[in-house]
Amino acid sequence: MNFQERVAVVTGGSKGIGKAMAQQFAAHGAKVAILDIDPAAGEAVVQSLHDTGQQAHFFHANVDDLASMERAATQVAHTLGKTDILCCNAGIYPQAFLETMTEADWDAVHRVNLKGMFFTLKAFLPLLKQSPQGRIILTSSITGPITGYPGWAHYGATKAGMLGFMRSAAIELAKYGITINAILPGNIETEGLGEIGAEYRRKMESVIPFRRLGKPEDVAYAALFFASDGAAYITGQTLVVDGGQVLPESSLALEDLQD
Ligand code: NAP
Repeated sequence: MNFQERVAVVTGGSKGIGKAMAQQFAAHGAKVAILDIDPAAGEAVVQSLHDTGQQAHFFHANVDDLASMERAATQVAHTLGKTDILCCNAGIYPQAFLETMTEADWDAVHRVNLKGMFFTLKAFLPLLKQSPQGRIILTSSITGPITGYPGWAHYGATKAGMLGFMRSAAIELAKYGITINAILPGNIETEGLGEIGAEYRRKMESVIPFRRLGKPEDVAYAALFFASDGAAYITGQTLVVDGGQVLPESSLALEDLQD
């Protein structure tokens, strides 16, 4: 994989999966733009990439604000000249149970995860159209498209919604040679997931055939694949990165793994 001369933009790139995507694209030669609402963490990632001779810039941008994303697209164009790869990755996953879930809970998750993805794509589309190899990579989830979990109905709706959006977008964007694909991570060890707590983590490890949570890099490698030259003819597709979590048809299927 060689992304020299390409510019990769990653939303939510200050931490977790987005940070790993930014690091991997930079490690493979791309110039990277990290867009996030956490400037301290984002600047720290940029500094660590500069320390190893890689090219990266931080731009303060809020995906749920179209004006903010348009400003960021202008800044990326001014600083880096173009955008070839767009990772719509920023997302939130606060737990809320149906009986107490408020309209505000519902709206907050939809604003960032679904509207934020649309605003990101909308702001960067003029730049992507100018690229001979425009690539859009969405970070969806297994939760929603494949599985469910109490407290994440609103979240699952956004992550399934991203795939519905993607399939029509893929057809519209084909005329520009732009591909759009989605990664469906399982449970990945990130700052955000850490906030859910050790008990959740322990439960999850026990139901993943690999018996471990994923690393952010595991997801970033899938993004490299979708952005690679070899994936030029793949669009509107999904790739699950979950250590086999969605495979057992019941907990019985995992019992034989006990040692
Ligand atoms: P994370 O560790 O919480 O990192 C997300 C980053 O995005 C943070 O820096 C966060 O800033 C930032 N962010 C939040 N809202 C934003 C906004 N409105 N505009 C711009 N940046 C914003 O999250 P993660 O676990 O890496 O998750 C990244 C993506 O993967 C999300 O879309 C998530 O749904 C998806 N995903 C994660 C998992 C998992 O197990 N971790 C599994 C499936 C899917 P603050 O920290 O300041 O809020």
